[in-house]
Amino acid sequence: MFFMDLNEAIELVKNTEICKNCKNIVIGKGNEKAKILFVGEAPGAKEDEQGIPFVGAAGKNLDKLLANVGLSLNDIYVANILKCRPPENRVPSNEEIKAHTPWLLKQIESMQPKVVCSLGNYATKFFLALGNVDLMDKQSGITQVHGKVKDIEISGVKINLIPLFHPAAIIYNRKLIVEWEKDMEIVKKEIAQKTLF
Ligand code: URA
Repeated sequence: MFFMDLNEAIELVKNTEICKNCKNIVIGKGNEKAKILFVGEAPGAKEDEQGIPFVGAAGKNLDKLLANVGLSLNDIYVANILKCRPPENRVPSNEEIKAHTPWLLKQIESMQPKVVCSLGNYATKFFLALGNVDLMDKQSGITQVHGKVKDIEISGVKINLIPLFHPAAIIYNRKLIVEWEKDMEIVKKEIAQKTLF
């Protein structure tokens, strides 16, 4: 276990309904020393079964989209806003997001990423609200902000936030795949400028 003491981390989330109902807590995958962090929403059924993020259909799409630009799990770390699967993939409550995101913030403090790619609306709004869950509703949606680099500071860590469409949303949407490809050019430019690997 890295980032923080596992018992301490579980203590944060164990009383949430989503934690009581999940099979596995899903912490993250990839290179813990990477300076590029991708953040999704929440584990789905496959992730819940395996305890690993992005292993289902969205994950397979993400792998493919990353491979297209020469990125692999050696170069990045992947985590989620929520560490447990909401039953029937329901929308999580603000209380659940509040209980789960301190774990993500600890991951960020430990990793000190330079670039964070937020995948989809939830993750994007969390970062745009600088971690203030009550302000998430007031943030722009992914359609407005995807591909726009924003310098933010969260948990004392300065990052370039690059919002991207969620890989699940673009599987069958040719138009969004084209947008994603353009956005990934921006990600690649940021990575190259910072010589992150
Ligand atoms: N969608 C996410 O946002 N995260 C996962 O881990 C899987 C699907």
